Amino acid sequence: MAHMQDYIARLEDGYRAATPRSRELFERSLVHMPGGAKGAYYYKPYPLAMERGEGCHLHDVDGRSYVDFTNHHTSLIVGHRHPAVLAAVDKQMQKGITLSAPVGIESENAAEICSRVPSVEKLRFCNSGTEATLHAIRLARGLTDRPKIAKFEGGYHGSHDTVEISVAPPLDRAGPADAPIAVPQVKGISPRALEEIVLLPYGDEAAVEKLVVENREELACVMYDPKAGIMPQKPAFAQFLRRITEENDILLIFDEIVGFSTGRSGLHGRLGIKPDLSTYGKIVGGGFPVGAFGGRADIMELLDGTKAPSGFFQSGSFSAHPLGMAAGLATLQQLTTEAFAHLENLSERLCNGLNGLFEEEAFEAQAVHNGAVFSIHFTKDELINYRSIAAADKTMSYPIFLSLLEEGYLLSYGMAMNSISLPTRERDIDGLIAAFGRLIRNMKGASR
Ligand code: PMP
Repeated sequence: MAHMQDYIARLEDGYRAATPRSRELFERSLVHMPGGAKGAYYYKPYPLAMERGEGCHLHDVDGRSYVDFTNHHTSLIVGHRHPAVLAAVDKQMQKGITLSAPVGIESENAAEICSRVPSVEKLRFCNSGTEATLHAIRLARGLTDRPKIAKFEGGYHGSHDTVEISVAPPLDRAGPADAPIAVPQVKGISPRALEEIVLLPYGDEAAVEKLVVENREELACVMYDPKAGIMPQKPAFAQFLRRITEENDILLIFDEIVGFSTGRSGLHGRLGIKPDLSTYGKIVGGGFPVGAFGGRADIMELLDGTKAPSGFFQSGSFSAHPLGMAAGLATLQQLTTEAFAHLENLSERLCNGLNGLFEEEAFEAQAVHNGAVFSIHFTKDELINYRSIAAADKTMSYPIFLSLLEEGYLLSYGMAMNSISLPTRERDIDGLIAAFGRLIRNMKGASR
């Protein structure tokens, strides 16, 4: 253990020596922003500040380069500075940043999404995934006139009060596995939100059915975060969810905010189900803050202000922002069937390579992937639900993260929800596997 601590201290020293400008910028940011620019940017000892991106590479302010496997929380699936995206944004920007009116490109973006996803007949744009789930849930509550929502323990749907509950609850406070207790993820969540939520366990059909049936009179919707590229997918479970929500007259809202990185029609298309509503974000804005929610026309039309008042309304100063719409459309246009086949090949090559290496080195880890998204969990146990992910060793990701930076690879700090971008080549994948091999052997040496 002491050896491991020395190993980490050496990595941190190396990081500090190589990144003085990042440190300076971080310290400057602390003066006026609590903890720096945003919560998710922080990691120990201090986050890298980036200068620019190009293709699958990021270049930091100290002149170091990395193959980028984060792609801004998976949103830059076409990589940095994709020429078609830059040209589309530039063309739109030359007309003005935003024009207090529709500009036309939002309808093209909406048509593109609807043409890809059979269950999405109509959709609305907003500014983030958080807003998308907020509006989808509001539609479900208003339509059914029921107060409660059900979500899965460990599922993430953004940062509004209704859903920022039991996202990563401590296991000793989470209650029984087949009837999880609602634990607020952060302070400040309304106590009402805790009363209006039903927590479901992933994968456990009997427990889910029991909870849904028990609460059916009060449940507006079941929110499903499928954890694409984080947990192995079980199509039969998604089909089961569709069946029991239908049988109990409850809406199914499928969160595709990450899932849309896994295939042309997102994840639910591949799983063969048709949710009532779906929520989008990340790649639909091509790197700009854009979210969207859509689904059954009869539900979405409740937002149609040209008809008799329905009592529903959704807007936002920057919703369907022209620059985000231009970037999103240009991004989606790159995402052909062949593009997804390329991404799937790369992520499969990576996960096969890593899993082979973990086996060879008897290293307690496993890599999972779906489309462009992959995760590494430090456990050999089967990943069936939030609790099996939470039980994995959480101490490994830090030294691995720092070692990979030293080798020129940027992954997410916790090693989950990494993403591969289109310009990534096989040699980048093979390089990452080789870097993992070296660091595992170094870590083993250090812990002897
Ligand atoms: N749902 C899922 C599955 C997500 O991964 C995220 C963001 N990581 C969100 C919702 C929230 O999206 P945003 O950060 O754009 O609010």
